[in-house]
Amino acid sequence: MALTGMQIYKLLPKTNCKDCGVPTCLAFAMKVANKKASILECPHASDEAKEKLAVASEPPVREITLKLGREDRKIGNETVKYRHEKTFYNPTVMALQLSDNLPESDVRLKAEKVKNWTLERIGMILEPEALYLRNDSGDKDKFMSLVKTAYEVCPDKAFMFHSDRVENLEAVSKMADEMGIRNPVYGFATKDNYRDLVEMAKKTKGSIILKADDLDQTYELTTELRFQGFKDVILAVGGEKAETSEKLRNNVIIRRSAVRKNIKEMGFPIINYLANTGDVYEAAFDGAVSVCKYASILVLDDPDETPTALLTALLLLRQNIYTDPQKPIQVEAKIYELGEVTSKTPVMVTTNFSLTYFLVAGEIETTGYPTYLAVVDAEGMGVLTAWAADKFNGEIIAEFINKSGIGDKVEEKRLVIPGYLANIKGETEDALPGWEIMVGPTEATGLPVYMKTILNQ
Ligand code: SF4
Repeated sequence: MALTGMQIYKLLPKTNCKDCGVPTCLAFAMKVANKKASILECPHASDEAKEKLAVASEPPVREITLKLGREDRKIGNETVKYRHEKTFYNPTVMALQLSDNLPESDVRLKAEKVKNWTLERIGMILEPEALYLRNDSGDKDKFMSLVKTAYEVCPDKAFMFHSDRVENLEAVSKMADEMGIRNPVYGFATKDNYRDLVEMAKKTKGSIILKADDLDQTYELTTELRFQGFKDVILAVGGEKAETSEKLRNNVIIRRSAVRKNIKEMGFPIINYLANTGDVYEAAFDGAVSVCKYASILVLDDPDETPTALLTALLLLRQNIYTDPQKPIQVEAKIYELGEVTSKTPVMVTTNFSLTYFLVAGEIETTGYPTYLAVVDAEGMGVLTAWAADKFNGEIIAEFINKSGIGDKVEEKRLVIPGYLANIKGETEDALPGWEIMVGPTEATGLPVYMKTILNQ
C-alpha cells in the first residue's frame, strides 16, 4: 500500500537542506507521495527509508511475466478483491498438460491440438496460453524429449515444467534456455528443494511454483524467499489435489491478505489445478471457482481429456470476469457494409456495445443478405441500457444517420430499429423525415426470419 506524504516525511532527515531542489522535506515528501519525485533524489535519505518506500510501492500481488514466444503475458498485479471495485487486470492463464509417459507421436498430435485451439469472440482471440509439461516417468531423457517436441510444435506458448526430480528440472532448464524458451515456470518448489529451483529460476528469468501443505507453511516459505530477495513465486497451496472448497477458501484468504491487509508474504499469484472427477459439470464448476476467485494460472487436463465445451466455457467466463466493468468493450461507431451492398440495401441500427454488434453482424452474415449496419456511439452500452441512459433514442439515431451520409447511398430509405425499442419508432420518424422506420426483431436470432419475410429481399 502506498505511503502518504506524512508517512514519507517521517522517513526523511527533516533538515530542509534543499539538496533535492525542493525548499522543505515536507514539500519533497508530498512530491514523492504524488509520484512526482523519487526518494533517490534526496541524497540524505537512509537505506532504511529507501527500503521502506520500495516495499510500500510494490503492488499487492506480485506481477510475474510469462513469455508466449516473444510476447509478454503478465500474471498477478491485481489490486482489488472484487472486480466492481476497479477491475481485474491480468486474466487467468489456461494451461493444458502433457505427460512424458506419452509416445512422441502422441505428444506431437496433442500439442498440435493445443496450438490450433482458438476461439474468436467479440473481436478477441481466446486460447489456452500455456503447456504444463510433466515428468511423470521420472526419466530425464523422456522429459527432455517431451519439452523439445512440445516447443517445436508450440513455440508461442508459455512453458511450465513439473518434476519431482531436481536434476531432471535442471537438465530441462538448461536445454530450454538453449532452445529459446523464456521465463519458464518450475514446479514444485517445496520446503526441501526450493533453493535449487530458485537458482534455476534466477538463471533463466523464470518463476517457481511453491507447493505448501497449508497457508501457514506458505507464509513460512514466502517469508524465507522474500528474505533471500526472490519474489517470482506462484502459490500452489495443497498442490494438485486441493478440492474446490479448499481452493476457494485458500484463494480468498490469500487475496484478502494481500490487497486488504497488505501482507507481502501472501502477495503472489496463485496456480490452481482443475479437479478431475470425470464429471464435466463438476470440472466446469471447479474451473469457474478458480477463474472467478483469483487463480492466475489454471492447469487443465491433457488436451484429449479436456472437452471443447469445458475449455470454451472457462475462456468465455474469463473474458467476462476480466473485462473492466466500467469500460464496456466497444466497436467503432460507423456504418458497416455487410455483404454486397447496393442502393436497395436496407439500413439497420444498433449500439456500439461489442457483444451486441458481433451478435447482430453475425446473424446478418449468416443470412447472406447484404445490409448496412449503422452502429451508433452509445458509450459501449447495450440497446436497452443505452436507451434507459438516454444515449440511444430517435434524435441520436437521426443525428448519426444524417452525419454518416448513408441517405445518399440508398434509394429506398428503410431503417430498421431494434425490436426492444418499438416505442421510439414515432420519435425516430419525426427526427428522420423521408425514412421509413421499421421495427426489427427483439433478439438478433430473429434476424434471419425477419430479413426473409419482412424485408423481402
Ligand atoms: Fe529534505 Fe532530503 Fe530534500 Fe534535504 S534533500 S530538503 S533532507 S528531502
